[in-house]
Amino acid sequence: MNLTDSHCHLQDPKFSRDMPRVIQRARATAVTTMVVVGYDMDSSRRAVEIAQSNEGIFAAIGVHPHDAKALTTGDISTLATLAESPMVVAIGEIGLDFYRNLSPPDVQHRAFREQLALARTLRLPTVIHARSADEPTFEVLAEHAEAISGDWPAEGPLGVMHCFAGDVALAEQYADLGFLISIAGTVTYPNAEKTREVARHIPLTSLLIETDAPYLPPQSRRGQRNEPANLVETANFIAELRGEPPELIAKETASNANRLFALDRVVQPTGERA
Ligand SMILES: [Zn+2]
Repeated sequence: MNLTDSHCHLQDPKFSRDMPRVIQRARATAVTTMVVVGYDMDSSRRAVEIAQSNEGIFAAIGVHPHDAKALTTGDISTLATLAESPMVVAIGEIGLDFYRNLSPPDVQHRAFREQLALARTLRLPTVIHARSADEPTFEVLAEHAEAISGDWPAEGPLGVMHCFAGDVALAEQYADLGFLISIAGTVTYPNAEKTREVARHIPLTSLLIETDAPYLPPQSRRGQRNEPANLVETANFIAELRGEPPELIAKETASNANRLFALDRVVQPTGERA
């Protein structure tokens, strides 16, 4: 069984002391593929570095809505330059977060749209963060999908709704728009019945799984630092919920990640294909 962690932050300072061991533990528990996701300029650069020096690790680059206020025009060109690395498989995480509003809403909107435009120019999929912003995020992504359909006959999914926290109806709307739904360890929390409903009902072809490490450890590790190795617990939990074998969940979610991020096209640092 091989698992793909579609969203983790190995560049987070919480991993600075033992990242090689964290990666080893992930591989030892079948998590062979990881996407390290940027949230500001520095973490995006670090994501690319980590991907370039570790097999099975890929990078997404982008500026999180919390940091939208720091995003400059120069940063957009820097992201474009960073994306020249074949290890960069997506733009993200980008989106809207009106729960904490660490950047003003209009500034978040501008940063989100500018980075979606960049993704269209580069023909890259996107990793989307949406919190307390269901409707505006859907509106912006519907426009993005529309803009893509004009000039870019997208073959695969357009992006992924990271750590999805909406209901089944919203998940279906996103699936129709061309987005995959990524379920995090939060699905194991006692109060997460809405997320369990989503995990039970969405078609396997739309499902991704993620840790969002170092955040959101699954229930058995709450209060601890999360790491990609813990993805196994979430995969088993979802398998149980759906009444399907964990191997099937692993295989389908890995294949969805492959399709979304076009991982087969990426030549590994070792010269091997993923
Ligand atoms: Zn994240």
